[in-house]
Amino acid sequence: MDILVINSGSSSLKYLLFDMGNEGVLAKGIVEKIGEETSFLKHSAGENEITREAKAPDHDAAFDLMIQALLDKGHGVIQSTDDVSAVGHRVVHGGETFVESTVITDEVKQTIEDYFPLAPLHNPPNLAGIRAAQKAFPSVPHVAVFDTAFHQTMPKRAYMYALPYELYEEDRIRKYGFHGTSHRFVSMRAAEILGIPRGEFNCITCHLGNGCSLTAVRDGKSVDTSMGLTPLEGVVMGTRTGDFDPAIVFYLARRRGYSLDEMDKLFNKQSGLLGLSGVSNDMREIHEAAEGGNERARLAIDVFAYRVRKYIGAYMAVLGRTDAIVFTGGIGENACGVREAICTGLEPLGIVFDSGKNAATRVEEAIVSGADSRVTVMVVPTNEELLIARDTLAVAEKTAVKT
Ligand code: ADP
Repeated sequence: MDILVINSGSSSLKYLLFDMGNEGVLAKGIVEKIGEETSFLKHSAGENEITREAKAPDHDAAFDLMIQALLDKGHGVIQSTDDVSAVGHRVVHGGETFVESTVITDEVKQTIEDYFPLAPLHNPPNLAGIRAAQKAFPSVPHVAVFDTAFHQTMPKRAYMYALPYELYEEDRIRKYGFHGTSHRFVSMRAAEILGIPRGEFNCITCHLGNGCSLTAVRDGKSVDTSMGLTPLEGVVMGTRTGDFDPAIVFYLARRRGYSLDEMDKLFNKQSGLLGLSGVSNDMREIHEAAEGGNERARLAIDVFAYRVRKYIGAYMAVLGRTDAIVFTGGIGENACGVREAICTGLEPLGIVFDSGKNAATRVEEAIVSGADSRVTVMVVPTNEELLIARDTLAVAEKTAVKT
């Protein structure tokens, strides 16, 4: 059974086609610069790779390009669109409505639209992708997999902000959390690797990529997470501030006369590792600059690691018993120096880090703590697309049984 996984952004369409028989990737690609004068298609299937310019003024056109590539006699992998059994869609915000992946009905689309104000950059292109995909594959189930859904098990004390209660009731202001599919995938996989039943597994998952978030997982469920109403809250990220004193907003407005839009850009696009280092938002470039003696680059890594370490401490207190700390995402999987800065010197908390094993671990499943560590520290590469494909298959099969 072939499952197509779609991640539709404002100017790009990413896709992966899985053969669920062996969970192998048959083809993957991206249409970039949708809506611009010239768009690009990158497509690969096994050894075959193509990149070409194309016209994709909107998401419907981007879907046409993807379908042409999948059907192509040379680099294609399917004979007809009927070979695709179901389509899974990454949707960023499911608010309080969606606690798990769901088959997409008109009502589901309406709810995704109702949440536009909570995710103005993500939910509109996600919905545009769903509409285009339903036109392109009209007779198969489409399934939405929400970034927020995994965190809907958080208790109220974890998701409420100490604002007047009406703002929660009337404006839905609360912590939602994101990266849920990644936190779910790596926590499940870590439990499997350690041979602990998922429903009894307590861990802290650290998704450190361009966006970064940590989640406290108790008995396999999210009980707290570092991102909030929006992905701005939490640890330091590539270009986002993470936690900071909200009074900085008033101070900047009064002192510099910054507008809301200017501050939105400042906190989301110009801060974080980029703002601190002045070098880049990319950890590899910051690391290189730090090695070369750049003080601000060193400081950026230092602040980044310190904040993650603080969250780990907080979440160990939340969980009581922590079986594992799990690193994932581009930085979590690759940057051994950052993992080391986060985890060393925590023996009093039961974390005995193995620097040797850690230094040898890149983008692979591995345990990087010592045998005598009460808390296992691990690296588990994330695979959100595979989990979306698995969910899509499960939901599609359940729906087929019902009808
Ligand atoms: P996204 O959140 O966009 O999916 P990724 O998970 O790919 O991003 O993470 C991107 C981050 O991972 C960047 O900061 C990048 O520098 C970092 N990264 C990737 N490879 C390495 C590496 N070998 N060493 C250090 N950092 C790395």
